[in-house]
Amino acid sequence: MSTRAIEIAGRVERFVRDTVVPFERDPRCGGHGPTESLVHELKALGREAGVLTPHILPDGSHLTQRETALVLRKSGLSPLGPIACNTMAPDEGNMYLLGKVASPQQKRRFLDPLILGEARSAFFMTEPASEGGAGSDPSMMRTTARLDGNHWVIDGRKAFITGADGAKVGIIMAKSDAVDGGACMFLVDLPDPAIRIDRVLETIDSSMPGGHSIVTIDNLRLPADQMLGMAGEGFKYAQIRLSPARLSHCMRWLGACTRANEIATDYACTRHAFGKPLVDHEGVGFMLAENLIDLQQAELMIDWCAGVLDGGSLGTAESSMAKVAVSEALMRIADRCVQVKGGTGVSGDTIVEQVFREIRAFRIYDGPTEVHKWSLAKKIKRDWRVRSA
Ligand SMILES: Cc1cc2nc3c(=O)[nH]c(=O)nc-3n(C[C@H](O)[C@H](O)[C@H](O)COP(=O)(O)OP(=O)(O)OC[C@H]3O[C@@H](n4cnc5c(N)ncnc54)[C@H](O)[C@@H]3O)c2cc1C
Repeated sequence: MSTRAIEIAGRVERFVRDTVVPFERDPRCGGHGPTESLVHELKALGREAGVLTPHILPDGSHLTQRETALVLRKSGLSPLGPIACNTMAPDEGNMYLLGKVASPQQKRRFLDPLILGEARSAFFMTEPASEGGAGSDPSMMRTTARLDGNHWVIDGRKAFITGADGAKVGIIMAKSDAVDGGACMFLVDLPDPAIRIDRVLETIDSSMPGGHSIVTIDNLRLPADQMLGMAGEGFKYAQIRLSPARLSHCMRWLGACTRANEIATDYACTRHAFGKPLVDHEGVGFMLAENLIDLQQAELMIDWCAGVLDGGSLGTAESSMAKVAVSEALMRIADRCVQVKGGTGVSGDTIVEQVFREIRAFRIYDGPTEVHKWSLAKKIKRDWRVRSA
C-alpha cells in the first residue's frame, strides 16, 4: 500500500472517530437521512480537517481502487463518515463517472461543485416496478428521450432515486428511438420544474441524505450539450460506473461493520452473565470469531477486485463476486453484532442497529445478490461453451 494512501486513511480515521462519531446521536440523523443542516455542518468539518473528498487529489486525479479501498473503509467507520468526507453514495460513483466521461465544460459545471462538497447529486435509473419499469433488468427502461431540434425532451418515471430531494446535479438515463432504442445519459441542474418529486419513500435505511424518491419527469427539455458522452452509449457508461460504485459500497459498509464489531466486542468483554464475561461463553466467543473471519474475507475480496479494476478491466464478473460475498458476509456480521448485544442491539443507543438495517438494503441496491449470481451463471455457461467448442 502506498504511503500517501496510508497517510490519507490515517487522517480520515482520526477525523471520523474523534469528530464525526459524536454526531451519531444528533437529533438531525434518521428518517429520510441526515438533514441538510447536519450535512452542511459535517462537510464543513471535513473541509476544515482536510479530509473532504480524500479519494480525489488536488490535481483531479483519482486514488487507485486499492488505495480508495483503504480510505473509504475508514470513512465508513461511522454511518455519518462518508457524508462528512464526501465519499458517500451516490455522489462518489457519480463523481467517478463524470471524471471518466464528462466533457471539460461539463466537468466545470457539474463535477467541480461535487468535488468541493458544495452540491449533492442523484442517479436516475430505476423505475417504478408497479409500472413495469427498469429494475434488475435495465433493458426494461420506459423513460424516453426524443430529439426536438437542438434539444432532447425527456419523459418518464423513476423510483428509489437516492438523494434526489435536495440534490443540485442529476444524471438521468433514458432510452431513445433516435439511437434505435439505445440508452442515453443526461446531466441536469436540480431542482427543475420538469422533475417532480412525487414522494420520498419510507425505507429500512436512514443514512443517505434526501432518502429515496419516486420522481416524475415531465417534458424535460435539455440542450444537446447536456448529454453525457455519446447517444446510445448509456448502458456502457452505466457499466463504467457500476463496478467501482458497487465496490465502494462494500468499502464503506466494511468500515461500518468493523465498528459495529468493535462495539459488540466491548459489550461481550465487559458485560457479565452466569458469573463470567459474555465473551467467555462459547456461543458468544464463536460469534465474534466468525465476525473476525468474515471481516477478513470481505477485506480480501474488496482488495482483490480493486486490483482487477486497477489493472484496467471493467471487472464486471469480479465486482459481482465481490458484491455478493461482501454484502452477504456483512449481513452475517451485523446480525451477530445485534445478537451479541442482546436487547441493546436492537435499540438506537449504538449504531449496531442502524448498520444492521443499512446492510439489509445493501443486499438489494447495486444489484441484488440473486441477479449477480444469475449473471455469473450465464458467464460460467458462456466460458464452458468456449472451452468445449
Ligand atoms: C436503498 C436503495 C437505494 C437505491 N438507490 C437508487 C438510485 O439512487 N438510483 C437508481 O437508479 N436506483 C436505485 N435503487 C434501485 C435499485 O438499483 C433496485 O432496487 C435494484 O436494481 C433492483 O430492482 P427492483 O427493486 O426493481 O427489483 P426487481 O427487479 O423487481 O427484482 C426483485 C427481486 O427479484 C430477484 N431477481 C430479479 N432478477 C433476477 C434474476 N435474473 N435471477 C434471480 N433473481 C432475480 C432478486 O431477488 C430481486 O431482489 C435503490 C434501491 C434501494 C433499495
